[in-house]
Amino acid sequence: SIQLKHSVLLKNNLTLLAGQWVSADSGETISVTNPATGLEVAKVPLMGSDEAERAIIAAEAAQKSWKTLTAAARAAILKRWFDLIILHREDLAQLLTAEQGKPLAEARGEVNYGASFIEWFAEEAKRVYGETIPAPMGDRRLLVLKQPIGVTAAITPWNFPIAMITRKAGPALAAGCSMIIKPAEQTPLCALALAVLAEEAGVPSGVLQVITGDARQIGAVLCESPVVAKLSFTGSTEVGRILMRQCADTIKKLSLELGGNAPFIVFNDADLDAAVEGAMISKYRNAGQTCVCSNRLFVQEGVYDEFAKKLAVKVAQLKVGVGTEDGVTQGPLIDDAAIEKVEFHVADAIAKGATLLQGGKRHNLGGTFFEPTVLANVSDDALIFSEETFGPVAPLFRFKTDEEVISLANRTEFGLASYFYSRDIGRIWRVAEALEYGMVGVNTGMISNEVAPFGGIKQSGLGREGSHHGIDEYLELKYVCMAGL
Ligand code: ADP
Repeated sequence: SIQLKHSVLLKNNLTLLAGQWVSADSGETISVTNPATGLEVAKVPLMGSDEAERAIIAAEAAQKSWKTLTAAARAAILKRWFDLIILHREDLAQLLTAEQGKPLAEARGEVNYGASFIEWFAEEAKRVYGETIPAPMGDRRLLVLKQPIGVTAAITPWNFPIAMITRKAGPALAAGCSMIIKPAEQTPLCALALAVLAEEAGVPSGVLQVITGDARQIGAVLCESPVVAKLSFTGSTEVGRILMRQCADTIKKLSLELGGNAPFIVFNDADLDAAVEGAMISKYRNAGQTCVCSNRLFVQEGVYDEFAKKLAVKVAQLKVGVGTEDGVTQGPLIDDAAIEKVEFHVADAIAKGATLLQGGKRHNLGGTFFEPTVLANVSDDALIFSEETFGPVAPLFRFKTDEEVISLANRTEFGLASYFYSRDIGRIWRVAEALEYGMVGVNTGMISNEVAPFGGIKQSGLGREGSHHGIDEYLELKYVCMAGL
């Protein structure tokens, strides 16, 4: 059995490449710090192009035999990986909070959510069905096979250090692909812990590797390699564009989960308490640092004042602090750049006429703690209307008609998540169909799970993760035409 106490893992300064625990060629490391305290949690290797090239060679070799296993054999290994993640839930949650900052209760939730993708895709591995097609000529039989894409790479963000990896590695491994993961520099420890558990579960060396280090160098090698057939990226739209360009020369398959600018609409006929509850979950979870966080709250004029009052009361009750402390619901923001952006958005909204109902400044705990904030009467030319804030700020916009709010909600290049509250069945259908978003939450602020397709339209990305569609991102269709029968 393995001891996954983070003190054990963290001593290493090593990462798991080709089945070996190795340091960077240069011997250099990156420091991983706890955003709640600023203290170093551990060091990981600062790797670059050479190590990335070697990882690709190992991934290519490993995939050759991994794809020949039966689906049931791969499923059994993935199921063991799932069991080990659940068994180590508490250690993983502690590690997650230490490097990422979210409250422990949310970290435990993320471990469960992250693990669910491994279980789901272990099951889906056995359901990769092909097709037979009635042929247009009598002597022919037409078949469609589904085969693994090959060597794949994942570049993942810091806001869900476990789930953003399992959501990619689960379907990749289930399909028979190998995967090289470049985790965010802020949160590589959860990635390493997952790799340790994968190895323990029986994932062969080279099938799943974690490379830590210089994002640009490693990213460039992964994107430009003709061996890597697919890249799955979750992160900012800006970096997504860079990666897409870098993948152009090799015509690489891409899954991109990029930024959002989620509208959260409250109509006059909404159940207001439920809407406030939903807004709390969708706005303040992970201190507002999720790509599906509501970024703009549109409230119809008949309920605007009441909603604003109720929301401000709830927000005042949030407890800000170190994620491991009892009762804390709001951790720190990830780093200085994050808190500066939040401050900037608040100042800009106020300069353009918004009023502060709650919070509005850095928290007196210091560091990167920010007060959960509510802004009222925000103007649609405020930056917060068009940019993702990625922090604990709820800007309220007032609207009159359905047409007006649909047009406001869609006035963005993003199209990831959206939410609205109404009890009118006709309005629910009309609005759900009119919102230009990949996901719509009706009367809920929480929509993500392993069985549903997660993803965006417009400049929020390409492809879907989770659900039975998720595995298709790691499969190629092959049409076989049998003639002369
Ligand atoms: P965020 O703003 O949330 O940190 P990023 O898009 O910057 O989002 O980061 C998401 C992931 O992309 C991280 O793993 C980061 O290291 C990686 N990344 C950032 N810039 C590049 C780049 N130029 N090439 C490859 N990966 C990158």
